[in-house]
Amino acid sequence: MSDLKLCQGTQCHMHMTQDRLKGQQGNKTYQTRRRSSFYYGGGNFCSLWCQNEWFSEFGNKAIDHFGRLTEPKHLTEQNAWSKCHDWDSDHNLVYVYLNGITKERRPLTEAQYNDTSYTINTGE
Ligand SMILES: [Zn+2]
Repeated sequence: MSDLKLCQGTQCHMHMTQDRLKGQQGNKTYQTRRRSSFYYGGGNFCSLWCQNEWFSEFGNKAIDHFGRLTEPKHLTEQNAWSKCHDWDSDHNLVYVYLNGITKERRPLTEAQYNDTSYTINTGE
């Protein structure tokens, strides 16, 4: 029981669903959901509903705390490479790096394609 996490939704207990209704007859309350894991918000929320309610209450503070963007970011030729599948002239599956700006294609090995740390992007 101690491994259960609580949904961090600020209004989770306000949603009157059967699974949230706990306690003895005559003393029942709707409670924040507890689960071994959650799928939303990095494992912190039981639903998008709860995630959105948290964001409505704390989102501005969180953005201000971690740094609000004041200028647009730029995706440049140097970091616009993405891995994708392609087919060669013999209809064989091949792996390529595709530059989203220049449209240049560079061959990739299957091992490079599957290696999540492998990149030719430079910069952010
Ligand atoms: Zn919740």
